[in-house]
Amino acid sequence: AGALELSPSIEKHPVEIRPRYGHFIAGRWVEGRDEGVFETVNPATAKPLAQIAAADEAEVDAAVAAARKAYDEVWSKLSGLERGKYLFRIARRLQERAREFATLETTDNGKPIRETRDVDIPLVAAHFFYYAGWADKLEHAAAGRKVAPLGVAGQIIPWNFPLLMLAWKIAPALATGNTVVLKPAETTPLTAALFCDVLQEVGLPPGVVNIVNGAGETGAALVNHPGIDKIAFTGSTEVGRIIMRSIAGTKKKATMELGGKGANIVFADAALDQAVEGCVDGIFFNQGHVCCAGSRLLVEESIAEDFVARLRRRVSTLRIGDPLDKNTDVGAINSKDQHGMIDRYLDIAAQEGAKVWQGAACELPSTGYYHLPTILTGVQQTDTVVREEIFGPVLSVLTFRTPAEAIKKANDTEYGLACGVWSEKTSKLFRTAHALNCGVVWANGYNLFDPSSPFGGVRHSGFGREGGIAGLWPYMQEVAR
Ligand code: NAD
Repeated sequence: AGALELSPSIEKHPVEIRPRYGHFIAGRWVEGRDEGVFETVNPATAKPLAQIAAADEAEVDAAVAAARKAYDEVWSKLSGLERGKYLFRIARRLQERAREFATLETTDNGKPIRETRDVDIPLVAAHFFYYAGWADKLEHAAAGRKVAPLGVAGQIIPWNFPLLMLAWKIAPALATGNTVVLKPAETTPLTAALFCDVLQEVGLPPGVVNIVNGAGETGAALVNHPGIDKIAFTGSTEVGRIIMRSIAGTKKKATMELGGKGANIVFADAALDQAVEGCVDGIFFNQGHVCCAGSRLLVEESIAEDFVARLRRRVSTLRIGDPLDKNTDVGAINSKDQHGMIDRYLDIAAQEGAKVWQGAACELPSTGYYHLPTILTGVQQTDTVVREEIFGPVLSVLTFRTPAEAIKKANDTEYGLACGVWSEKTSKLFRTAHALNCGVVWANGYNLFDPSSPFGGVRHSGFGREGGIAGLWPYMQEVAR
């Protein structure tokens, strides 16, 4: 704890990490019980960063009560313009403190500072700016229908984009007039805690946003609380199913952003160097801990050998190491558990006959949870690594001969979150994109995000959208005029 020892570029932006975090309820920190306290760890060093209390049912109940009181007495009475002003202030303050947030996110999560600095935190601020703009224009978003907020939203987020997932949840909820109880993932709670400082700085009325820390039991207490009107969940398909079963038959509304098994389809007529960059970004960005990761490469057979050779050459230049170093391309795996899971999948891949290739520009650091970027060839559609989400830096390569075969293979998955298509022929891009059974398709690009673009899946990747006008609807209901 205390100010972190950081690489030189970061020293100017030291971040204070408190020894222990409880829960942020009704605008102030409560210490939380000693029972069940756990540690959040720096994955780059495997050393603990802070102790975190785990909220039990009574603490979740206090957070929900605070959110309900704030909803009834303050937030639902404010005009959209007033709510928007708070969101604009939050966005501005996030920008002002962006370096601190980036440093803290990288330290708690293990992702490279280049990503938190250039992608995560700018997108977080952009999300608040975007939804701030909608707060006083909801009747336009609703196209003349009269809408009202739902009430208190329970929000549960994963560890791969901790502050960005918080922004995707909190910004539209507040813009539409709801109040919130949010539970961060247990391995990445620190930026949500720093976000509470921002809420205090901008004077957000107490209880409008409450944060409860903890693991699955705390999440379940939130899901099962009768005072919750809506559950917004981002995480694994497995936990999504548990949550849907728990709320069946209740008044609670839900949105589910779940797992994925994205495919990058590379046609022979693609700009190949650009496609290589896109495929590398698609699977090695954020160590592959991305729900929409392009974890399957579908490459046209006639160029497959050349394309895989180019891919390997490019992957051999990736620098793995200290996530706080600005030159790092691939950082640390978020937790020991996740690291073990990736290795288990590689064992299965080898047993099922895959050829495992790994590469990077440097050796792995001797401490921390690092994993080499991995490319699997010789895999089949039916192989476990092709069917299941690995959530790590592992790319499975498959080939196709015709566009129809590419589409069939891309759609042959229980998931349906995102795909990429690479071709210099616009008609081919459009025809393929329309035939893909997923929520997002990128053409000659990958992992491109903007707050105005709705994001979300179909089939086992979930339902509901976050981002854009579509992201407002899950927090509103139509009411009589
Ligand atoms: P996870 O499902 O294990 O955990 C997600 C969150 O749910 C955590 O906060 C966890 O504490 C909580 N949780 C666990 N059990 C719970 C329960 N029984 N009741 C309520 N809450 C519970 O997922 P993870 O490992 O944190 O994240 C990785 C998964 O998230 C991947 O499958 C990934 O694809 C998915 N994801 C999806 C999106 C998307 O937008 N579709 C975005 C990011 C991540």
